[in-house]
Amino acid sequence: MASDLLSTQIEFLKGVGPQRAELLKKELAIHTFLDLLLHYPFRYVDRTRFYKVSEIRTEMPYVQLKGQIVAHSIVGLKRARRLVATFRDSTGTIELVWFQGIKWVAEKLAMGGEFIVFGKPAVFNGKFNIPHPELDIATDENTIRASALQPVYPTTEKLKSKGIDSKAISRMVRIVVSQMERKIPETLSLAVLEENHLLSKEHALRLIHFPSDPDSLRKAQFRVKFEELFFIQLRLIKVKKVRAQALKGILFSKVGDNFNRFFTDHLPFPLTDAQKRVIKEIRIDTGSGRQMNRLLQGDVGSGKTIVALMSMLLALDNGCQSCLMAPTEILANQHYQSLSEMLKPMGIPIALLTGSTRAAQRRTLLAGVASGEIPFLVGTHALIEDSVQFSNLGLTVIDEQHRFGVDQRARLWSKGKQLPHVLVMTATPIPRTLAMTLYGDLDVSVIDQLPPGRKPVKTIHRYDSARIEVFAFMKQQIAMGRQIYVVYPLIRESEKMDYKDLMDGYESIVRAFPQPEYQVSIVHGQMKNTDRDFEMQRFLNRQTQIMVATTVIEVGVNVPNASVMIIESAERFGLSQLHQLRGRVGRGADQSYCILMTSYELSNETRTRVETMVRTNDGFEIAEVDLRLRGPGDIEGTQQSGVVDLRLADLSKDAAILQKAREVAIKLLDSDPDLVSPVNYPIAARLRESEASRNFYSRVS
Ligand code: ADP
Ligand code: MG
Repeated sequence: MASDLLSTQIEFLKGVGPQRAELLKKELAIHTFLDLLLHYPFRYVDRTRFYKVSEIRTEMPYVQLKGQIVAHSIVGLKRARRLVATFRDSTGTIELVWFQGIKWVAEKLAMGGEFIVFGKPAVFNGKFNIPHPELDIATDENTIRASALQPVYPTTEKLKSKGIDSKAISRMVRIVVSQMERKIPETLSLAVLEENHLLSKEHALRLIHFPSDPDSLRKAQFRVKFEELFFIQLRLIKVKKVRAQALKGILFSKVGDNFNRFFTDHLPFPLTDAQKRVIKEIRIDTGSGRQMNRLLQGDVGSGKTIVALMSMLLALDNGCQSCLMAPTEILANQHYQSLSEMLKPMGIPIALLTGSTRAAQRRTLLAGVASGEIPFLVGTHALIEDSVQFSNLGLTVIDEQHRFGVDQRARLWSKGKQLPHVLVMTATPIPRTLAMTLYGDLDVSVIDQLPPGRKPVKTIHRYDSARIEVFAFMKQQIAMGRQIYVVYPLIRESEKMDYKDLMDGYESIVRAFPQPEYQVSIVHGQMKNTDRDFEMQRFLNRQTQIMVATTVIEVGVNVPNASVMIIESAERFGLSQLHQLRGRVGRGADQSYCILMTSYELSNETRTRVETMVRTNDGFEIAEVDLRLRGPGDIEGTQQSGVVDLRLADLSKDAAILQKAREVAIKLLDSDPDLVSPVNYPIAARLRESEASRNFYSRVS
């Protein structure tokens, strides 16, 4: 049976045995032959080329030579004892040196003839040598084996200490590969293989471990990555299709009075093209008879609120209520205020429901929502409580979605007799590849344009030693009537230490900005909500000029007069967090600044983060860099997505393959939605398997 070989436990592999098996399981999660086959090399050493002695340069990571050993001897005593051999080819000579395994090497050298030498060149006493090179007698077989791309496998210190280094893993893989002919089940259909010029699975697996040349390696990697991405996309698109078929949406058949009146008479500003495009996308969705599930991405300040409002007006024109849910009370308040403002000339009722809504008010409000008198409801989590019943909910807008869990979303959906349309808005830009994977079952709209007249925030990096100048700059800005945020990180192991940093910082600022000339607010997570709101309100009312805070101000707060954001210990923030924080300024007409304060000692990664922030304001570009730096596994929301199960594909690099895989998946499901055609049997089987287990690579039976 095909999979017998693959499901064999690793201890039964020649040369492994129970002890090493235990280690392989613990250290690398290799339990079976299949797991070993799926333990891909993370890079390859190019041994396709033989160099000449005369070509050797110090900067070469390694060289491979072919020639004679013309002399060798053991020199030195004790720890300096070493074997020195003189290697020669047609262009010159170079010394090879071994400190260990001398006896073994000497025996090999004594066999004479032509040798293949492979190692890293070094300089000693002004001359090149190669310490501890690999040495092989140049038989035909060795020459062929040597002249290839040699796999380098991930392993651990512990494994290495037990002799399981990359080479040993390669030898183990070679045994499995030599036995696997016609035993690797194909997981794609013949049509998919042919149309996309993909190698068979077996061929690809063989080549990925033992590539004959760079070109075939690329083909093998393509096939493996394609498969990984294809099955994730297939799952997502299937979910989307099932939903589209099974769930009838409420039909918003017309654009009516409210929408039109607002658009012609009450728009507070002309819409950007991006806003218009997104509103059109929403109109098409909601007018299709299917349930809309749309993710709206738009950088902070790109103007998502008015898109939400116009969608709500569209719902109203079609006899439906809408609700808008925000993650915090402050944000819910702000939304409520800006929507009320815009709706005032229209005379449309709108209500706010949060945890602090008083009981009496709450009762009337809930009655109004249940009867349908109140068409628009804004709120926090309070909206998903059972007591909130709508008369006819047609649209749910969720702001800053990543703060809400999937089941919370589901509870909002179930509030109507019919499924309401769902618009999820997020200001956290996600790279396209990640969006396609995380939200592959949603439709995605993007506002990729800021309203006109915005001055981009100027971002500046300063070392802690320049604090005095930074204080002077702050004073200058305050004298011009501006307000300032100073943000401290909250990411240490110990909350106490964070708190101490914050309080120390606060005190030093109060010293530098004394009363009564200056007023300083402070806001942090250990304060009571009411105190926090009080301080926020003071800052909003311009009663204080400086707001010292932890990242609680990260989300959504809108104080247009605040034009300077100082981020302390900026090296301790992630890129997306820095970008979110910077988004708090640059909301008014004034030139705004973001100052990143760091110590002198920065790792390469931190430096890249800081430089990226200084270079660009483009959230999508920043998200791409973030993805490259951190890998998809660490980005919020990816844990449940299957992205972390990717072994070879890399969402920061394989956008083109992902795009292709998605297209092929869509086409396939269009032609055979339930994958019942016999030609698609392999795909259907694989998909079932993947649906049965989240980490679908480690289980095959
Ligand atoms: P987001 O929620 O996407 O961060 P908002 O909807 O809060 O952004 O909009 C940010 C600011 O820009 C608001 O003050 C809003 O009134 C303004 N704004 C939005 N769209 C436009 C536009 N097309 N032209 C001018 N100003 C706009
Ligand atoms: Mg917003």
